[in-house]
This record gives sequence, structure tokens and C-alpha cells, in this order.
Amino acid sequence: MSLFKPLETNPDKKNIDGQPNPSEHVKCLIIGSGPAGYTAAIYAARANLKPLLFKGIQPGGQLTTTTEVENFPGYPEGITGPKLMEDLEQQAARFGTDIRWGIATSVDFSSTPHKVVVDEKTTFEADTVIIATGATARYLGLESEEKYRGSGVSACATCDGFFYKGKDVAVVGGGDTACEEALYLAGMCRKVYLIVRKPFLRASKIMQQRVMDAPNIEVMFERNTRELRGNQVVEEAVLIKRMGEPDEQEEIIKIDGFFLAIGHTPNSDVFKPFLETDETGYIKTVPGTPRTNVAGVFACGDVQDKTYRQAVTAAGSGCSAAIEAERYLAQR
Ligand code: NDP
Repeated sequence: MSLFKPLETNPDKKNIDGQPNPSEHVKCLIIGSGPAGYTAAIYAARANLKPLLFKGIQPGGQLTTTTEVENFPGYPEGITGPKLMEDLEQQAARFGTDIRWGIATSVDFSSTPHKVVVDEKTTFEADTVIIATGATARYLGLESEEKYRGSGVSACATCDGFFYKGKDVAVVGGGDTACEEALYLAGMCRKVYLIVRKPFLRASKIMQQRVMDAPNIEVMFERNTRELRGNQVVEEAVLIKRMGEPDEQEEIIKIDGFFLAIGHTPNSDVFKPFLETDETGYIKTVPGTPRTNVAGVFACGDVQDKTYRQAVTAAGSGCSAAIEAERYLAQR
């Protein structure tokens, strides 16, 4: 829960063509309120850039959907995700960051100052833009998955695992996240099925070993999920073994929870007309820097990082983005 009252964006003044007028000009506009966005804000504010930050679709970012965070430096006893984000928000506000509710719905980076349209109605002009929009968990796209979202379907074991204590659950995916989630759930659930579409795991060797060593994890290779069934909540999953092969076979597992761990999609669509992205949508930056292909536009956090995806690495890259923004402005 935010400690700050939502601030209104400027009223949507319209010009004679009915188009929104550019209403505010800022030195530094930050999009996103996860660890990257707030850290960028702390540094930008302390550098006197008077940053304006829009919170985006998921205020506080992905950490607000987790419970305990034990690996963020400085918290020997751990801290909850929401509390950590509240603290970061408070710290960013303390140095004068103008924090507002709003979603960047389109941008124009074709000339300077750069333009960012918020909530489809208000245009902001900015000398520098820091993109910290993060990434969103992927779902399989099944109708039944949608139906049971929040009633047995989750994309975050650390957030929701608690509700499945002593029960049977399934995790979908074969990467490090899936293994990590399966191991986490194995510590509290009776049985964990790990549903992997390929005949092998993509995860690092050490994670694979841990999964194989866990007595209550059953790895089900070459399985795809056809649908989930149940009354009010998930009760079973219909799997297809060796889908598309002559010996394709349907099988049913009884489960109470179904966890997705099939990767994340970077929240970069809005920027794609102007910024280079890789084949999976991650914003490309000059290696070792937060610089994008557009001068004055910087990207930090998970929207440009598919490798580490940690709160602390996101925070670090937010710091770099603010320092780069400051240097860019100083050179102009
Ligand atoms: P990955 O992209 O590595 O893995 C995604 C997994 O989901 C793959 O096994 C993939 O299958 C599977 N998958 C994707 N789409 C579907 C689908 N439609 N149906 C079924 N399965 C599907 O994502 P992760 O989130 O696991 O990891 C991302 C990055 O973060 C990696 O670099 C990883 O190493 C890193 N990471 C590191 C951790 C650590 O070091 N502790 C912890 C977590 C992540 P397939 O293999 O067939 O493509």
C-alpha cells in the first residue's frame, strides 16, 4: 500500500484540433516504479534533475507480489516485497521525486525533447527518459487457466505457495525459475509435478540436480497442458504426453494448484517504434550501460535484462541510468 496520496496528472487540456497539449516539460521522466525506477529516481533527484516518475501498470513492480525478500542487501532479517517498495518510494519522494499514478501509453522519441503520453491523454516533454517498466509473467493462454486465475492458478510460488501447504501442485516450465519454484513448493506441499514440454530441463545443472534429488518432485517430461478442470477451484490438469507424436497420450493429474514458470515478457511494446529490442522484446542497451539507440533515452531493470532479473541488479541499473541521464544533460 502506498504511503503517498495519488497526485493528479495535469488536466487534459485540448488544443484546437482536439489533441492534448504538451503540458509539462521535465528534465528527467522515469517510467515504472519497481526497484529500477525508484533507484533511478533517488539518484536523479539527488542530482537535482527534479524527476517525474509514473508508477505504471503495477505500482511497486513485481516485488509487490512476493512475500519475503531475503536477498536484498541491508535487511539481515529479510523484508516483505511490499514494504521494501514502500521504503524505496519514500526514499525517492524524500529527495523530491514527483511521483504520480499513470501509465505511459505512447511515446515519440523522434526528436528532442522526447514526448511521453500518459493515460492516452496527457503529453509530457522530457529531456531524458528512463524506462523501468519491468517484465510480466507469461501464461500458457488456455481458457481454463484464465478461468481459475486466483483460484488455483498462479505465476508466483513465493506469493501463493503458502495456500497449498500439504497439497499437490504442478509447476510448468523447465528453466531456472520453474526449478526454483518447484523446490520452494516442495518444502511445503505434499507433491510437486514439474511439467516440462521438452525431454530435458533447460535450467542450470545445479538446479536440475536439486530438483532430481527432491523426493516429492516428479518431473514429467514431454508434457503439454491441454486444460484445467474443477468446480470453483482447480482440481485436475489434463496433460498431453508426446504431443504430435504417433504415441501421443492424454493423462490427468489431480492437483490443487497450478503454477506457471515459463518466463517473462518485457513490458516494451510502447517503445518498440523507436527503440531496438531483441527477438524476445527486451530493450537493447549498449553493453555495460543503460543507453538505448536513442540519445537521452535509457533503459534499466527487467525490461532490458533477461539474465539476472533480481531486485538488486535492477536497482543497480536504475542507478546507472540516472547517472547517465545526468551526464547526458551536462554534455548538452
Ligand atoms: P527460461 O526462458 O529460461 O525458461 C522458460 C521455460 O519455460 C523453458 O523450459 C521453456 O521450455 C518453458 N516454456 C516456455 N513457454 C512454454 C509453454 N508455452 N509451454 C510449456 N513450457 C514453456 O525462463 P526462466 O524464467 O526460467 O529464466 C529466465 C532467466 O533467468 C534465465 O536466464 C535463468 O537462468 C535466470 N534465472 C536464474 C535464477 C537463478 O540463478 N537462481 C532463478 C531464476 C531465473 P523450452 O525449454 O522448451 O523452451
